[in-house]
Amino acid sequence: MTGYVFAPPACPSLPVVGQADRFPVRRIFCVGRNYAEHAREMGNDPDREPPFFFSKPGDALVQDGATIPYPPATENLHFEAELVLAIGLGGRDIAPGNALSHIWGYAPGNDLTRRDLQAQAKSMRRPWDMGKAFDNSAVCGAILSAADIGHPARGRITATVNDTLQQDADIADMIWPVADIIAHLSALVTLAPGDLIYTGTPAGVGALVAGDTCTVAIDGLGQVTTHIA
Ligand code: MN
Repeated sequence: MTGYVFAPPACPSLPVVGQADRFPVRRIFCVGRNYAEHAREMGNDPDREPPFFFSKPGDALVQDGATIPYPPATENLHFEAELVLAIGLGGRDIAPGNALSHIWGYAPGNDLTRRDLQAQAKSMRRPWDMGKAFDNSAVCGAILSAADIGHPARGRITATVNDTLQQDADIADMIWPVADIIAHLSALVTLAPGDLIYTGTPAGVGALVAGDTCTVAIDGLGQVTTHIA
């Protein structure tokens, strides 16, 4: 019998609201610049650019209530409140009209970012990985199944740091709605069950420091809280 030279890594997973079984996570994709005001605050023109994507490793996942260490190699850790899609049905070249049927559920998420490393990568035309795809960078709350809640097209999304409201927008304000995100992404890669898609953040991003508590909430989808040690 053939085995492994050491124990294979555990599958990252998320709790599902109202169910004992967990959602197994495969890959984590993220959309850049999907709210006009955030694109402007980062110095970009929101009108001209099609959606683009980056990714994080599945084992960067952080669950609700976790305390994470302040990450190394940065002096500017940022929060980004985002709606997260959980893919339940894979595929490629998915038409926008079919896209919602590929979504298993939704969750609030926080795309933690080492902004200084990301800015350096941008200025040097280097990859974003070390600014975006570091350990503990993919905060995600419990998943609500679309079977239970349907497919929300609007809802207030907020980020709160130590009880101060920092981001306050509506997921209806996305430049590229959920169905278009799935259509664009599935033209680039084959999606599979367990993939998560972070759909971009609205304006108001800012820094977290040691001792902070950051909560992302989306109306109807609950919230996810992270403590920075
Ligand atoms: Mn983001």
